[in-house]
Amino acid sequence: MSESKRILVVSAHPDDIEFGAAGSIAKFVKEGWNVTYLIVTRGQKGAYDATVDINEYGKLRESEAREAAKRTGVENVRFLDYVDSEVEYTLELQKDIAREFRRFKPHRLFCMNPNQLSAQGFINHPDHRRVARATLDVSLMAGTTAAIFPELELEEGLPPWRECEEIWLMGPAGGEEIVDVTDTVDIKLDALAAHESQNTSGVLEAIRERLAVRGAESGVAYAESFQVIRRWRAQPAKTPN
Ligand SMILES: [Zn+2]
Repeated sequence: MSESKRILVVSAHPDDIEFGAAGSIAKFVKEGWNVTYLIVTRGQKGAYDATVDINEYGKLRESEAREAAKRTGVENVRFLDYVDSEVEYTLELQKDIAREFRRFKPHRLFCMNPNQLSAQGFINHPDHRRVARATLDVSLMAGTTAAIFPELELEEGLPPWRECEEIWLMGPAGGEEIVDVTDTVDIKLDALAAHESQNTSGVLEAIRERLAVRGAESGVAYAESFQVIRRWRAQPAKTPN
């Protein structure tokens, strides 16, 4: 595979990618994909402590996310400066994501689930929904259309990027796209364990079990699954013979 193939993963919080996709990401890294994480908040409010210093806590969680990425084989991690649990769907958020979309030029975009009730038993966090909506919309508009935020091109040298071929939705809902993560399940769980502040040790076995159930459905030991949107493109007209 060409070394130029790129994946951009956009999440709301420092541990979302480890829960949602790290087994697949680790596999794609091994296959030669160039992967970048874009994390919109530092998870500053993910603490069961009303007195926590959210800036210090955010720094801790950023370092945990960088360690988790490293364990997965991903070196390039970028944070936006939004505050956990306060993300709004704004033009500013669209522009900030569009900037990174244009900068990293992904062929495959990983995104959160935009639905409130995304899966049985889950209420999807509002930050997940808003980041997902903005990311999906950027892939359609601000990331790909020159006249939207023209200053990105004119002042920052970031023209639209129109070659993103696939969008993969992460999260417990899963989807029809199955990725065999048998060879990378331990990497995923090790990456998840990097989030020590979140006490993830208690969920590691539950996550392994969920991956095993997904795997059993498709005849492999462990699987992650995704809803994938493959962008429809008109084929170039053929020259008549
Ligand atoms: Zn989250």
